[in-house]
Amino acid sequence: MLNIVIFGAPGSGKGTQSERIVTKYGLSHISTGDVLRAEIKNGTDLGRTAKQYIDQGQLLPDELIIDILASTLDGLKDSKGVIFDGFPRTIAQAEALKQMLAERGQAVSVMLDLDVPEDELMKRLLLRGQQSGRADDNEETIRKRLTVYHSQTAPLIDWYKKEGLYAHINGLGELERITTDICAAIEGK
Ligand code: ADP
Repeated sequence: MLNIVIFGAPGSGKGTQSERIVTKYGLSHISTGDVLRAEIKNGTDLGRTAKQYIDQGQLLPDELIIDILASTLDGLKDSKGVIFDGFPRTIAQAEALKQMLAERGQAVSVMLDLDVPEDELMKRLLLRGQQSGRADDNEETIRKRLTVYHSQTAPLIDWYKKEGLYAHINGLGELERITTDICAAIEGK
C-alpha cells in the first residue's frame, strides 16, 4: 500500500498534482475540501456546518473532520493506496491519521511538501477565484487561510520530519517538472 500525504499551503497545487499521481500509481484520492464542497452542494447538515467555517477561512473542528476522513476511508474498496489531499492540517489530525492507518495495518509512506512562495500563492488563488467562482478564493478569506496555514498547519512539517517521512518539493515552475520531482520522492521511499 502506498499512502501519500500531499501537503502545502492553499494554492500550492495539491489538487492538480494529486490528479496526476492518482493516474500514474492507480491510487484513490481523498480531498477533504472536495468532500466538504460536495456536502455543501447536496445541502446536507454537514455541508451547512462546513460552509460556516470555509467561508470564514477557518478549519473545521478536528473531531468533525477526523470522523469525515475515517468514514471516507472506510468507503474505499480494493485500493492500492490513498493520496490524502488537504488532510492532515493540524498535529491532532496527523496523529489521528497515523492511528487510523495503524488500525488497518498500514502507515503513511511519504509526506510531500509542495513549497510555493506566498506572493505566488495569492496570485494563483485570486485567479482561481475568478475562474471557478469558489467563494473562499477572495482576497480577505485567502489572507485568513494563509494565516491559519502558518499557525496551525505548517507545524506539521517538523512533525513529519521527526517521523522520517518528509520530502520537500519545489512547487514553483513547470507542472511536469514538479510531477517528476514528486515521482522521484515517492519512488525513493
Ligand atoms: P485549499 O487547500 O485551497 O485551502 P481545500 O479545498 O483543501 O482548499 O479546503 C477548503 C476549506 O475546507 C479549508 O479552508 C477548510 O475550511 C476546510 N477543510 C478542508 N480540509 C480540512 C481539514 N483537514 N481540517 C479542517 N478543515 C478543512
